[in-house]
Amino acid sequence: MENIPTESRQYGQEAPSPELMPSRYKQSTHGSARSANQTLLNKLIALSLPFVPKPIVKQFAKRYVAGESIAEMIQTVRTLNQQGVSATIDVLGEFIHHPQEAHQTAEMYQKILQEIEEHHLDANVSVKLTAMGLLLDPNLCLNLMQNLATHAAEHHNFIRIDMEDSECTAQTIDLYLTLRKTFSNVGIVVQAYLRRTHDDVIRIIEAGAGHFRLCKGIYIEPRWLAYQLPDLINQNYADILEEMIQRGAYIGIATHDERLVWAALKLIRKYHLSRDQYEFQMLLGVDPELREMLVAAGHHVRVYVPFGKQWHAYCMRRLKENPKIAGYILQNLIHRH
Ligand SMILES: Cc1cc2nc3c(=O)[nH]c(=O)nc-3n(C[C@H](O)[C@H](O)[C@H](O)COP(=O)(O)OP(=O)(O)OC[C@H]3O[C@@H](n4cnc5c(N)ncnc54)[C@H](O)[C@@H]3O)c2cc1C
Repeated sequence: MENIPTESRQYGQEAPSPELMPSRYKQSTHGSARSANQTLLNKLIALSLPFVPKPIVKQFAKRYVAGESIAEMIQTVRTLNQQGVSATIDVLGEFIHHPQEAHQTAEMYQKILQEIEEHHLDANVSVKLTAMGLLLDPNLCLNLMQNLATHAAEHHNFIRIDMEDSECTAQTIDLYLTLRKTFSNVGIVVQAYLRRTHDDVIRIIEAGAGHFRLCKGIYIEPRWLAYQLPDLINQNYADILEEMIQRGAYIGIATHDERLVWAALKLIRKYHLSRDQYEFQMLLGVDPELREMLVAAGHHVRVYVPFGKQWHAYCMRRLKENPKIAGYILQNLIHRH
């Protein structure tokens, strides 16, 4: 079996290596770190949700999660497809503790790829490497991903590797580059809030693996590693997007921020991109109006469709990682009623 190469990358000027990091930051380089700008309200909502009965949380969650079963997920994807929207399917999972759980995740994804083909769905899959054992046994993770990529290729399909918190960034990119030596039907996600991402993108494109989803990044990361100012994150997003376009990469433009959608549309026009060079991507249940406008204007749009039995644990963990989401949910509820 091929071994995963170790991280050999030099950090750019903006992101010194962890050894050079002031000690006060060392405890907080992972996604659990808290930034000062979370509002008290978001924190309170996030803290109180674990005590809210599951059926009530389900009412909040059902807009964002396509149910627990494969049948419910298929129905959601079919409805999206009828609206001219593609999907990417994510099996909700929690941190795994045993290699057996990584095998189960891989089997579930193989089943989903079969279902996509059988039901003629316009969909691919999104995979989190931690659910495939990245932090337990990187070689097992690589092995399972190689099998899944083979299976996806047999079904003429594609795998997008989600990006998780900064503990996983280097390993995720290294595993992706290893996979891409054999498989072209795999792509990666990069996060515009990370100071290292611009350099990563260039390295990935130079390795011939420029197939991206570009997002802002969902985890709470320390200032040492990630831009904190919304304007700076947006500026970096637009700069990285332009770099990707200039270097001929394929880009999934994943955002609901209309300022970024506007910046992307400007770049699409400036560089005369055709539909096969990019797509817009959005989360299930978030701003369907913007999604419909993009579809109506002739753009390819893909919606991220999470589903699975672990929806409750997943929602709770996401809220703990980033209480900002609680604020979004509340805003949406207020606007809808
Ligand atoms: C298809 C897709 C895949 C993604 N994959 C990853 C990934 O692999 N790794 C990663 O770190 N992040 C991922 N993200 C999340 C992303 O990093 C952002 O955290 C998220 O999209 C919010 O950023 P935004 O660009 O929409 O801008 P924001 O300014 O944060 O949001 C714009 C508006 O969109 C709405 N909104 C945004 N997010 C939500 C939400 N969750 N619930 C309700 N309303 C919301 C709010 O009304 C908000 O005002 C993904 C996002 C998308 C769309």
